[in-house]
Amino acid sequence: MKLKLAIQKSGRLHDDSIKLLKECGIDISNGVNKLKAEASNFPLEVFFLRDDDIPQYVEDAVADIGFVGENVVYEKKKQVAVVEKLGFGKCRLSIAVKRGEEYESAAFLAGKRIATSYPVLVAQFLQEKKIAAEIHEISGSVEIAPGIGLADAICDLVSSGSTLFMNGLTETEIILQSQAVLIKSESISPEQQVLLDKLLFRIQAVKKAKN
Ligand code: ATP
Ligand code: ZN
Repeated sequence: MKLKLAIQKSGRLHDDSIKLLKECGIDISNGVNKLKAEASNFPLEVFFLRDDDIPQYVEDAVADIGFVGENVVYEKKKQVAVVEKLGFGKCRLSIAVKRGEEYESAAFLAGKRIATSYPVLVAQFLQEKKIAAEIHEISGSVEIAPGIGLADAICDLVSSGSTLFMNGLTETEIILQSQAVLIKSESISPEQQVLLDKLLFRIQAVKKAKN
């Protein structure tokens, strides 16, 4: 029996996901198959997927566990358990407006158009603040929306802030602090849980060594 792990196929979380496995002493064979790989020294099978699809695969128990950003986990609202923060992929989901706009509080957003790839999280934020605004879902290059007159504000992932800066925007409010987490299926078997506990023990040791 093997534990099936879903990680990002390529992108910001891929390299750090592989690196964490290495630091846990787990060697992944770079087989010809780009969909999955097997560990040579741990009962682990690794699936390479788009990050957006990882919560669904784990909810469906096609993968037992996954490494994915909290932003994706909470946006997708799937039935999965968040087990451990992994310490990489750190970023924040923030509101940004054109530089020079007077943004004193979220009340600024009332009646405005907000462009985002995170409609669920933005709607939650607006509801908590009791603000009515229009959410425009766009899948990429959200930061150009205000400049082309498509939106008054955006809500997007930020790490250094340089993308916002280059587009004449300024970050005004953080709605979620995010990092990569380990999620698990709610239907994991007791045998797989034993394997997961072994993996978690190693992950925690790696994290401790870094502190
Ligand atoms: P995929 O092809 O897998 O769908 P993607 O383009 O959606 O990839 P990436 O840009 O590779 O995703 O980002 C993956 C994750 O990395 C994000 O969901 C987030 O958790 C994290 N991340 C960390 N810093 C940033 C940042 N500055 N911008 C975007 N994502 C970041
Ligand atoms: Zn994605």
